[in-house]
Amino acid sequence: MSDSHTTPSTQSFETVAIHAGNTADPLTGAVVPPIYQVSTYKQDGVGGLRGGYEYSRSANPTRTALEENLAALEGGRRGLAFASGLAAEDCLLRALLAPGDHVVIPNDAYGGTFRLFAKVVSRWGVEWSVADTSDPEAVRAAVTDRTKAIWVETPSNPLLGITDIAAVAQIARESGARLVVDNTFASPYLQQPLALGADIVVHSMTKYMGGHSDVVGGALVVSDEALGEELAYHQNAMGAVAGPFDAWLVLRGIKTLAVRMDRHSENATKVTDMLTRHARVTQVLYPGLPEHPGHEIAAKQMKSFGGMVSFRVEGGEEAAVEVCNRAKLFTLGESLGGVESLIEHPGRMTHASVAGSALEVPADLVRLSVGIEAADDLLADLQQALG
Ligand SMILES: *Cc1c(COP(=O)(O)O)cnc(C)c1O
Repeated sequence: MSDSHTTPSTQSFETVAIHAGNTADPLTGAVVPPIYQVSTYKQDGVGGLRGGYEYSRSANPTRTALEENLAALEGGRRGLAFASGLAAEDCLLRALLAPGDHVVIPNDAYGGTFRLFAKVVSRWGVEWSVADTSDPEAVRAAVTDRTKAIWVETPSNPLLGITDIAAVAQIARESGARLVVDNTFASPYLQQPLALGADIVVHSMTKYMGGHSDVVGGALVVSDEALGEELAYHQNAMGAVAGPFDAWLVLRGIKTLAVRMDRHSENATKVTDMLTRHARVTQVLYPGLPEHPGHEIAAKQMKSFGGMVSFRVEGGEEAAVEVCNRAKLFTLGESLGGVESLIEHPGRMTHASVAGSALEVPADLVRLSVGIEAADDLLADLQQALG
């Protein structure tokens, strides 16, 4: 019975993904952690907890299994699972920041992250400025003596920009700020920010971690135990936890993360090969392309380049929208990271909330989440959508 809650760090990622946190159920020996769909726990006399559980906002065994797994995957000490990626971000920001503090945020990011800063957190007296985080010197220039956090997304959404995590971690250390890396696009299989010097990893588990477009969830992972305790306190105090069934779905998805990511990267490479040669495509944004400005850094800090591809279409906004509307196998929809391929128009869909800001995206941009279907079928669909 593999009852150990810790997985030796000598094991490879694929093994850790399947085993960390996945202890055999102590009651029945079930090899998969059961869905503990329960809110409260019988105590053996006042304060006599069996196994440490008292109320499922504070802790739930299925969520604990996922949280142990997350910590192991990112090479951290503490993992925390939330109801969504934005719930994780909100908890982190309120735990880290106080009125008067300053945050550096990237000029390319998930629209909801920007909205959280611009419309919600700013009302609490937290200041932020935007920097092109793909240029470490621009980050350094944006730091003030009140900067408490530097926020980075790499690869970024939707422009696939690359930030040198180790270089920005150095700047964060020198300025006494914490480096937060949103690792959603890469997943821990392709990139491990904590090992590169980041303090906190953020995930929308809705994407590659869950991997099947059937769950919304978020995560934080840290190496520092005191920070982990502080975040766990806020997680319980604020309450936006992952429910047991959602935790179970993500834990199940993670078991195939490595094989899925390999195929996502492989298919995305074939898609970019075709797009770069297509007459109607004016630019392809993918860190795997040698002409991508972040290619060398991506090659250094990522195992492969992932499944997200953006491209610009000749003919402007209407042409880009038309390509999205004509795609058949690529489903027109928001979100990303599932086994099925998705296509969308960021300007009118995922990034409508950043219109008019420093994060505005080109109108002729199309974003693909390249799935793990047969590559030839995906290429044929894109060819017909491009007309
Ligand atoms: C989707 C996403 C988020 C937000 O996560 P939700 O689970 O939708 O709340 C944050 N960052 C990135 C990069 C994302 O793609």
